[in-house]
Amino acid sequence: MRCFTHPDYVFPLPVRHPFPMDKFWRSAAMLEGTAHLSIEDSVPATEADLRRVHTAGYLEKIHRGHLERTEAVKLGLPAGAGLLARSALEVGGTLQATEAAQAEGLACNLAGGTHHAFADRGLGYCVLNDVAIAIRRWQTSAPNLRFFIVDTDAHQGNGTHGIFAADERVFTYSIHVGKNYPAVKTPGRLDVPLPRYVNGTDFLEQLESTLPEAFGEFRPDFCFWITGADLHHNDRFGQMGLDDADFAVRDQFVLELVTRHQVPTAVLYGGGYNRDRVHTARLHAETVRRCAAYWHQHYAEKPTMLPAR
Ligand SMILES: [Zn+2]
Repeated sequence: MRCFTHPDYVFPLPVRHPFPMDKFWRSAAMLEGTAHLSIEDSVPATEADLRRVHTAGYLEKIHRGHLERTEAVKLGLPAGAGLLARSALEVGGTLQATEAAQAEGLACNLAGGTHHAFADRGLGYCVLNDVAIAIRRWQTSAPNLRFFIVDTDAHQGNGTHGIFAADERVFTYSIHVGKNYPAVKTPGRLDVPLPRYVNGTDFLEQLESTLPEAFGEFRPDFCFWITGADLHHNDRFGQMGLDDADFAVRDQFVLELVTRHQVPTAVLYGGGYNRDRVHTARLHAETVRRCAAYWHQHYAEKPTMLPAR
């Protein structure tokens, strides 16, 4: 299975900044030598790619570092040309993973899933909406494709929901803690809000009782899965109670679903803010390892996953 990363995914942040940039290099290092996995360099998305989703005014503001104070606080990362370049590189990894998954069934960006970014503003450490950029690019050549976004990050995918609110071709599914960031939710096609500190059993029960039906009825041609590592009980922001074993069950469940329906899937990180920084990287890496094992089992021998439409 192909996956994509780059040393420049790591962007220098002030000391004590809460965003764990180290998870990108740590998880990539943990995955070195994994069976059935190839790690390739990401290539930046072009400005034309970004402009299909984001407003020119917003991109210009990020590029120049000219955010209002409240906008800067809401984004949580220091705007400027460096941040825009780094974010375009991360989006590039999602574009590459999308193409690789289209051809070979499953592929990962060792980052991405920046689901809080709207067309005209960045929120919650999300500068650009990678999934939206990938979908809008593909729609230019295949306008009838049906996309399903499985968002299992602990937080609601409000930016993605906003961007695709009026697009019937995109199903946005988000399972998350109801009373957590973002305080104001932007409705998706199917939201599954859970109580704070939900345990693994209850989370999995809710996932299993809502996702398969929606997925089966929508009959997607392609899936984006924003996994999230912030569901862990030791996460600072996720407010969920899953342990490592629950992550394994979650991953097997989603992978079984997309392979059973033969829907090619691009897998993305989403958030992770474990009090143990190394564990954030390990949770992401373990999910990618499970994907590689699934890929080997289900797709390695039949690389003809092009959607019919
Ligand atoms: Zn999150």
